[in-house]
Amino acid sequence: MKVIIVGGGIMGLSIALELRKADDLEVMVLEKSIPGAEASSAAAGMLAPQFEATGPGPMFDLTLLSRMAWPKFAATLEERSGVAVDYLPCGGLQVAFTDDEVHALDAKISWQKAQGLRAELLSGDELFAREPKLNPKALAAADLPDDHQVNPRQLLRALAIAATKAGVGFKSGTVRALVETGGTVTGVDVDGEVLGADVVVLAAGAWSGLVSGAEVDPGRVKPVRGQMVELQLRAPIFTRLLKSAGGYLVPRADGRVVAGSTMEMVGFDKNVTAEGLQKVLAASIQLVPELAGAAVTSTWAGLRPWTDDQLPFLGEGPKPGLLLATGHFRNGILLAPITARLIGQLVRHEKVSVDLKPFRYRRNSP
Ligand SMILES: Cc1cc2nc3c(=O)[nH]c(=O)nc-3n(C[C@H](O)[C@H](O)[C@H](O)COP(=O)(O)OP(=O)(O)OC[C@H]3O[C@@H](n4cnc5c(N)ncnc54)[C@H](O)[C@@H]3O)c2cc1C
Repeated sequence: MKVIIVGGGIMGLSIALELRKADDLEVMVLEKSIPGAEASSAAAGMLAPQFEATGPGPMFDLTLLSRMAWPKFAATLEERSGVAVDYLPCGGLQVAFTDDEVHALDAKISWQKAQGLRAELLSGDELFAREPKLNPKALAAADLPDDHQVNPRQLLRALAIAATKAGVGFKSGTVRALVETGGTVTGVDVDGEVLGADVVVLAAGAWSGLVSGAEVDPGRVKPVRGQMVELQLRAPIFTRLLKSAGGYLVPRADGRVVAGSTMEMVGFDKNVTAEGLQKVLAASIQLVPELAGAAVTSTWAGLRPWTDDQLPFLGEGPKPGLLLATGHFRNGILLAPITARLIGQLVRHEKVSVDLKPFRYRRNSP
């Protein structure tokens, strides 16, 4: 059986690798730029369902399942590629600077604890004992010790190497359209060349609504720009992920700090702007005032694949022969292991281990 994957971001590469775990499938990834060039390498690399969640539900459950899969996913990838992906079990603090934010954290901790998760409200001495460099104006924080991080650029390198070693084929080019026979997708048109496939997986991130013939409504998948800043300290001065209402900080082990991020619907514009940088830096300095003296070593922006209800599209697409693995918005790095597993099960016609109804493309129809 031949599988074509449109898009070589974290989704496309993770799925390709999963599909090549046995020799039964021929797998080809089609990428218009270079693998990992877009949102996936722009990400901060937080593996943080508890940080990110706004409430319980199928999306939260999916992110927790994926977080559980991460240690093995990272270890296997390192073994297969020889590249360290810097999976770091660092934990996180979600910090409140106002009374309203403290109440919101309290509520979040309650529903997360009710699900059996570790979460605790810290204030005063307890808080500053954990992270002494935190702004003394912080009133409290949710301690979320099971949210972690990985280095997305290393990760994407590792995935590309592991996929190549596993026998995944790569082709550069833009998929202009899907090709169909009698209403079933049977291949793709890549820069005018037709390639046949038994299954096509659309993993084109923010561009997923632009592939002609896929019938993915461009109004349901849109790019949301995120601007990022990398700061360099001589040595790390805090070790946990830190998040506030204004932004977040991801401390790498070597003293770099990745600071993010804006959420802007500005089409496919990937510029870094003065206003964007100002927002990210202000939030960073509010969290850890000492960062005011840190060197700015890099800035960039990426396009998150947003969906209209902020749930990904996973599984059967609008047409037979087409599977979707897109719309992971703010959590695509976190969701890679579970997405790859589920798409692998669908391609192989195995029992699917998660109820995909909330994530299917036509979720509003019976
Ligand atoms: C600033 C920022 C910070 C983030 N931080 C985090 C984080 O901390 N944790 C987390 O879990 N997630 C985070 N995310 C989200 C995460 O990066 C995305 O959800 C994830 O990368 C999406 O992966 P993808 O493979 O679907 O998309 P992409 O990485 O964008 O890959 C899609 C690929 O498809 C290719 N493509 C598109 N159209 C075509 C075509 N027609 N033909 C051929 N190729 C095509 C593109 O060139 C691209 O390489 C962040 C995102 C951003 C932008």
